Amino acid sequence: MDKFTVLKEIFGHENFRRGQGEIVDSLTSGRDVLAIMPTGGGKSVCYQIPALMADGVTFVISPLISLMKDQVQALIQNGVRAAYINSSLTVNQYYKVLDNMRAGVYKIIYIAPERLESDGFLQCCWDMNISLIAIDEAHCVSGWGQDFRPAYLGIAKFIDSLPRRPVVGAFTATATEKVKNDIAELLRLEDPFEVTTGFDRPNLSFEVIPTTKGGKPGELLRLMRERFKEKCGIVYCGTRALVEEVALLLRSNGYESRAYHAGMGDAERHAAQDDFIYDRCTVMVATNAFGMGIDKSNVAFVIHYNMPKDVESYYQEAGRAGRDGSDADCVLLWSDSDIVLNRFLIEKGEGAPGIVPEVQEQLKRIEMDRLGKMADYCRTLGCLRAYLLRYFGEEPESDNCGNCSNCTGDFETKDITVDAQKILSCIARTDNRFGATTIAAILRGTMNEQIEKYNLDAQSTYGIMKGATEKYIRQVIGELRMQGYLSVDESTIYRIPSLTPKARDILTGGVHVFMKVQQTAEQAAVKSRTRQRVMDDTVQNGGLLEQLKAERNRFARAMGVPAYVVFTDAALYDMCRIMPKNTEELLTVSGVGKVKAQKYGESFLEIIRKFG
Ligand code: ADP
Ligand code: ZN
Repeated sequence: MDKFTVLKEIFGHENFRRGQGEIVDSLTSGRDVLAIMPTGGGKSVCYQIPALMADGVTFVISPLISLMKDQVQALIQNGVRAAYINSSLTVNQYYKVLDNMRAGVYKIIYIAPERLESDGFLQCCWDMNISLIAIDEAHCVSGWGQDFRPAYLGIAKFIDSLPRRPVVGAFTATATEKVKNDIAELLRLEDPFEVTTGFDRPNLSFEVIPTTKGGKPGELLRLMRERFKEKCGIVYCGTRALVEEVALLLRSNGYESRAYHAGMGDAERHAAQDDFIYDRCTVMVATNAFGMGIDKSNVAFVIHYNMPKDVESYYQEAGRAGRDGSDADCVLLWSDSDIVLNRFLIEKGEGAPGIVPEVQEQLKRIEMDRLGKMADYCRTLGCLRAYLLRYFGEEPESDNCGNCSNCTGDFETKDITVDAQKILSCIARTDNRFGATTIAAILRGTMNEQIEKYNLDAQSTYGIMKGATEKYIRQVIGELRMQGYLSVDESTIYRIPSLTPKARDILTGGVHVFMKVQQTAEQAAVKSRTRQRVMDDTVQNGGLLEQLKAERNRFARAMGVPAYVVFTDAALYDMCRIMPKNTEELLTVSGVGKVKAQKYGESFLEIIRKFG
């Protein structure tokens, strides 16, 4: 079978996504691969297809036990013989899997890295035909990343000790240059074909909702009521106490939710995670402890109740939405108090043991800087997607993605040249010594300690923007920074803005500056509600979706697997859209391969036929 046939018949997908085809080609032709693809980008088929096309067996090395089980269940659903080997197996199960493995029963075996180190396992591999070793979450090999797993360092040794070197593919979602080099070197990849498919996740819509600390519960309930009722999602909170509070808030308002944080016992945490994965609850309220290891594909929304500490964390957590390719929402409820909370966490953070105080200070400054960039994301009036992509070093295709709150919100473009001139002169005349708060206070002509202490009310710019709010002045300062007219001193936590040479263009050069200004919250809300309703109606097709979901749940319960292992939400949406009448048409649905069509097709077709 060629790769297109495997993609279609086994996995039920019509086309390869970006990068997938090339990776498959490289691995099947025997060349190593180093692939960097975003979460949900579709890494698995990149090694599963070569695995199915090769003669021998494929090992997939993965650090995530729960994910392994899922992947194996999903493969079995697609008619692929697969198994996993990790610490969750009993001794008997383990030997059974080894026996089967030697007998050539499996095409794909998921293995925890620690297992490779046992002599028994290595011996077992000597007379096997291993065609491919795929290393998932490959960044775990690097001490630079936050997910370092020492056992990953043993992978290269394991491969070396095999009689014949299989082709090796390394996969990860996050990799800086340093980590990437570590991966290639420490896994001893041989002249790997490198692919970076880009960080964009077009099916995710991004949204920032400015709110106050006290306004968050109300805003969350509004979102749940108006947009996310009965949908499955995650609400990330900044602290354990907030997790408990928000979970309770949701439960008392009738939303099936569970709490998850590191302060809970193992058993309790596992139970919560299982309830979520098996759709026994719809909302998971969690700290950032929740995530590594969940691979639920039908998460329709991720709400951040607090702003996370950096853009890396945000994108990773928000990225847990929409993994099956369906449209999904990533909403961040933002208030200034989030910055205060994060500053506090960084300040009191103890850092790694054994690090000298100077380095500790330096690390804290880096964290503060990253926090500042996260706050910029919340404040920017530009395209949120473009902001995220640039942050990760990628040039976006456009500055208007049409799928974020800044692109779809109603904005007018305002000429802010005069205000910019006022702000820039104020900063210049005070010798670039003060932060945004003080600058705003001078311009608005208010009194505070700083102003008294330094006689700032004697400044010629004192009170020249009396009618403006502090928020507006901060926004303009942020905008001027993003447009390169101001730079911020990153070496202090106060983030003092100072003029760049380019600022002269505004002050004297006749250059105009523009800024997008948001319409009122009510206007924007009406628009987003209408949009949502139109989408829901087409997608749900007047109740069909519900019936298909119920059928899916019936199968899932009977087999004890998560619902999305039977069919993803994306597949069900597609059924509602296509309304297939027979098996042939059913096979055109995204995510329906031959085996699944055979297994479940008739029941689903019957529902659709009755409906149509
Ligand atoms: P990753 O491991 O990169 O996070 P997965 O391999 O789990 O992502 O894939 C994410 C989702 O995308 C899965 O639901 C999968 O079925 C779907 N998918 C992968 N490749 C394709 C494709 N070529 N066409 C449509 N859907 C795909
Ligand atoms: Zn946008």
